[in-house]
This record gives sequence, structure tokens and C-alpha cells, in this order.
Amino acid sequence: MTPAHDAIVIGAGVIGVSIAYHLAALGARDVLVLDRAAVGAGTSSQSSGILRTHYSVPENIELARRSWTVFDSFAAYLDDDEASAGLVKCGYLIAAPAGAKLAPLRDALLAQKARGITVELLSTQDAALRLPICRFDDAALIGFEPEAGFADAYLVASAFARAARRRGVTIMEGVEVAGLVREGGRVVGVDTSRGRFAAATVVSAQNIWARDIERWTGIETPVRAERHAVLALTGVEPYTYAMPVYKDLGSPGMLYCRSYGGTHMLVSEGGAGETLDRPDNEQGQIPVDDVLRVGEQVAERFPAYAEAGLASSWTGVYDVTPDWNPVLGRLADVPGLVVAYGFSGHGFKLSPAVGRVLAQEVLGLPTDVSLASYAHERFRSGKLLRGRYGSGAVS
Ligand SMILES: Cc1cc2nc3c(=O)[nH]c(=O)nc-3n(C[C@H](O)[C@H](O)[C@H](O)COP(=O)(O)OP(=O)(O)OC[C@H]3O[C@@H](n4cnc5c(N)ncnc54)[C@H](O)[C@@H]3O)c2cc1C
Repeated sequence: MTPAHDAIVIGAGVIGVSIAYHLAALGARDVLVLDRAAVGAGTSSQSSGILRTHYSVPENIELARRSWTVFDSFAAYLDDDEASAGLVKCGYLIAAPAGAKLAPLRDALLAQKARGITVELLSTQDAALRLPICRFDDAALIGFEPEAGFADAYLVASAFARAARRRGVTIMEGVEVAGLVREGGRVVGVDTSRGRFAAATVVSAQNIWARDIERWTGIETPVRAERHAVLALTGVEPYTYAMPVYKDLGSPGMLYCRSYGGTHMLVSEGGAGETLDRPDNEQGQIPVDDVLRVGEQVAERFPAYAEAGLASSWTGVYDVTPDWNPVLGRLADVPGLVVAYGFSGHGFKLSPAVGRVLAQEVLGLPTDVSLASYAHERFRSGKLLRGRYGSGAVS
């Protein structure tokens, strides 16, 4: 089969469209994106959107740092005056009590500083000035990252898609990829609901649906779909846009909180969720017990939310790998295929840099950040990319 496209990207979530945009920006002539639904309609539209460079895994700090510079100058980066990431630059505050999370927090803050990222250590009084609705009396260490906040993953996906189209990328929505076409073991295209398309390289950016790769190639794809509940609460005091995102390493669920609409609190647990039998990002039930469990943790930390009202709630699904970090790059046994899955609830903040490094990989260019640690091979060698906070999206 003659390659008709330089690359085909399966999936038009924030990762897939970022890859496609960067492919075009780096000189690929003919890029096709296929999505069975629509741009950003997968798990990206369910994201809490938190942006930070705080990680205990150094490779993630680097991808997040590079990505932040993109979010912070989004319209200029895409050369599109109308592009908006919906960025709220409120900072990121993370606190740990004495105990197991203290040393990882200290080390992660030092690692950020070593990379030139501005990080402040706050006293409990200073932290209370920044987030007056919160109690910090048990905090043994509090870090504050001013260049952080949250943005809107759907807006970002839409803007990457528009910028990609302007650079000649074709995005086809409503097209399901049913299988890979292989010649002599090499992937040379895809079979779809609209027929066969040929390409020099196929990129899978399928998130919770990445198990298709296992079905198509026989290569184990260690990713499970995990549903998480997100709540929007009303308290007697507002959680304003000026107040930072808060990560509570001391709460049983490792809660994360941020402003929602400038008045409400968006809150969710940062650990494991409900594993689904099959990948599906439809809205799920949120058991009352789960609401009560999160509510109790919020009440403990935020007195003004002790009697909070539930303004809204929704579910979103993570693509979780055994070490809560993504698989990025070529599959050694399947030439012509590049994968990007397993973002484990923290892929939005990495999406610009991941898109760029994977585009570089596809085009045979040196990558800005080494992909070695993210290789699929790690599940065979046992050299997992585990973060020091244990299971969870803070990684
Ligand atoms: C509740 C929740 C909160 C989160 N909070 C944060 C956060 O605060 N910060 C952060 O950084 N990250 C967060 N994340 C994670 C982040 O949102 C995701 O990592 C990111 O959006 C994933 O993008 P994606 O492109 O990989 O996946 P998706 O957006 O799911 O895109 C995958 C696409 O592939 C398509 N597809 C799959 N298979 C096929 C096929 N066979 N044929 C055609 N199309 C196919 C789907 O239709 C879908 O559109 C959160 C996620 C959730 C669910």
C-alpha cells in the first residue's frame, strides 16, 4: 500500500489533536485524525483541568514545565488570536502533615526548584492568607507554585484542532477505527467505518479505549478504565478564582480542590476510583456514600463547607496504568505504530509537550524529553515509573 498520509492519529482528544498540531507544525505534510465521536468529546471534556508542575517523577516535571509555557502563552503559541485555554492562574498549594508524604513532598519541591521552577515554602499563616477558607493547623510542609492553576481541556482540544486544520491537518469525526492494516508486520494504515486509509505511521491516542491495541496486535496493553466522581459544592464562603488550587496530601482520599465558576468548590479524590468492566465515558451513578465520604473530608479541612450544598456532580474516566504514568512512543514489536495512553488522570497538564515529543518521535527527530522512561517495555522489565506518593494522579 502506498502511504497516502504521513501519519494517521486515532483519537481527537486533547492528546491526539496536540500530536496532530505538532506534526503539522514540525513539517508533516499530510496528517489525518480520526475520531468515532468528536473533537474533545472523550474523557478530555470531563477533566478538572488542573495545571501544575508538581510531580515526584522528574520526567513528568519536565513535560509539565514545557507544557505550562504553552498554556501561559496559548494564543501566541498557536498563532491564533482567538485561541483560549480558559486559563485561571491562581497558583497551586500543596500541603502534607507529618508522616509518609512529607519526604516525597520536600523532595518534589526541591526537584522543581532545581529545574528553575518558582516554588515557595509557606508558613501556615501565609497559606491561610492565600486560601483563607482552609485549615492548615496540621500541616508540616506547605509548598506554593505561583505559576500554576487550571484551564479548560475542551477549549484546549478545540484550539489545537483549529490550529491543526489551519496547518492542513484533516480531522474526520464520526469515523471509527476497526483495526490496523499490516504488511510484513509493519503497520501501514487503518480500517475504518469509512474504508481503509494508508499512512507511513499510525498513532494511537485512544485513552481508555487503548485496549484496542491489544486486540489488534496481541501486545499486552496494561490500561484500565477507572471512573471518578467530581463534586461542585456551595459553602457559606466562596471559593474564588483568586484562591489557589489545593492538594491535601493529609486527607484519606488525597483531595484536590479548586474554584468552580469563581464561587463554588470543585473537589475530587486523587486516589483510585471504580474500575469499569469495559471502557465507557458515559455518566455513571455517584453513590451517596461516596458523596458523604468526600463531604466529611471537605468539612474537616474547610469549616465554611461543613454544611456544604451539592450544586452539581459528574463522573469522568481515567485510563490508568499499573504505575499511574503514561505509555509514550513506539511499540518495539510493532513497527509503524506509536502509542500515547495511560495518562492516569493527569494527562491534560502534559498535553502540549506530549504532543510535541510524540510528533518529533513520529518524524524521526530528536525528542525534547527522552521517552525512554515512558516506554511500554517497562512493564516487561519491571522498571516501572512509580511516583513517590503511591497510587494516584499526583504521581
Ligand atoms: C474526572 C477527571 C479529572 C481530570 N483532571 C485532570 C486534571 O485536573 N489535570 C490533568 O492534567 N488531567 C486531568 N485529567 C486527565 C486528562 O483530562 C486526560 O488525561 C486527557 O484529557 C486525556 O486526553 P486523551 O486525548 O488521551 O483522551 P480522550 O479525550 O478520551 O480522547 C480519546 C479519543 O479517542 C477516540 N477513540 C478511541 N478509540 C477509537 C477508535 N477505535 N476509533 C476512533 N476513535 C477512537 C475517542 O472517541 C476519544 O475522543 C482528568 C480526567 C478525568 C476523567
